[in-house]
Amino acid sequence: MPLYEFFCPQCQKKFEELCRTSQESVPCPQCAAESKKVLSAFRSRRSGSGEGGLASGGCGG
Ligand SMILES: [Zn+2]
Repeated sequence: MPLYEFFCPQCQKKFEELCRTSQESVPCPQCAAESKKVLSAFRSRRSGSGEGGLASGGCGG
């Protein structure tokens, strides 16, 4: 599932929200203020939703 990060200008906090559609702004769960999507910088992890796709060739039978 696509998980996006949003920033609430009211709470001055970030929160994650599951975006079903391509929403650019969602209501803050705390104060219901319009929060904008922020670009979440992936930490360490290179591949997004990893489902065992690191193996680069090599089949040892
Ligand atoms: Zn808020």
